[in-house]
Amino acid sequence: EAKRQPVNECRLFDAALAAKVQARRLLEADLRQALAAEDQLDLHYQPVLDSDGYRVVGVEALVRWHHPKQGMIPPADFIPIAEACGLIVPLGEWVLDRAAAMMMRFPHISLAVNLSPIQLRSPEIAGRILAILARHGMDPRQLQLEVTESAVLAMDSSVEAALARLRSDGVQLVLDDFGTGYSSLSHLHKLAIDRVKIDQSFVHDLGRSQDARAIIQAVLGIGQSLGIGVTAEGVEDETQKLFLSTFGCNEFQGYLFSRPLPADDAAAFLKSHAVREAA
Ligand code: C2E
Ligand code: MG
Ligand code: MG
Ligand code: MG
Repeated sequence: EAKRQPVNECRLFDAALAAKVQARRLLEADLRQALAAEDQLDLHYQPVLDSDGYRVVGVEALVRWHHPKQGMIPPADFIPIAEACGLIVPLGEWVLDRAAAMMMRFPHISLAVNLSPIQLRSPEIAGRILAILARHGMDPRQLQLEVTESAVLAMDSSVEAALARLRSDGVQLVLDDFGTGYSSLSHLHKLAIDRVKIDQSFVHDLGRSQDARAIIQAVLGIGQSLGIGVTAEGVEDETQKLFLSTFGCNEFQGYLFSRPLPADDAAAFLKSHAVREAA
């Protein structure tokens, strides 16, 4: 009897795993369909504000999936699936295309788009990104590509060449979720990173954690000495904003200012808030 238990547990585990794999496969098929039909996918835009005057300097495009049966599925749940099955490449292009169309109405602010490491390694990525911008007449200098530290670490020479080409056309590179990964300061320099986004976990903890405060101050100090802009994300209250601006943070993003908004609401927000003039 005692011997059989592990076997049963194992079967249970297998059954749970099989159910998980099956659910994932179904979701993958649904995502493929959503991408073809386009009516379930949507973009939200979260405003980014500067430190002097809290004028809007840009928006970050964030993808949304309204699943017909499961309702809203957060990107943290479906982006990994899209990455695992290769759908992230067409999905990423759909995001950029849709966002670039929106930005034609707002040529003075920047557009930040998240770029998966899988996209970064896909063939002709630089050319395809620039072609999408050209199709909409969007200035490449308006675009900020957000990559994570893990993407930077997995970089090979062809990815570096793609990033160099994008940069030479004026596209800005932003390191997202900064402080959570393992990238070194030499990466910031070597890849000519224009801006880092302090991960929201540090901002979230700054009221109760001396370590979080120390990390934020260090990142702001590095930014200042290397001439790299620093954005704080996940800013939810005035205390956080005050701490960040005291130590020289120059851009903010978070629920304190605005949640990510559907296109029409984002357009209304941009029209009713002061927008930083083009330099
Ligand atoms: P991210 O790029 O770091 O985006 C910031 C996330 O923080 C967004 O979550 C945003 O809604 C959320 N956020 C903003 N302000 C606050 C705040 O004050 N408090 C809190 N608690 N959260 C805040 P979201 O939209 O769920 O996206 C999660 C992640 O999914 C993104 O993190 C990004 O890594 C990924 N993602 C979203 N859209 C895309 C996309 O089009 N392509 C790719 N490759 N990844 C995407
Ligand atoms: Mg981002
Ligand atoms: Mg982030
Ligand atoms: Mg994140």
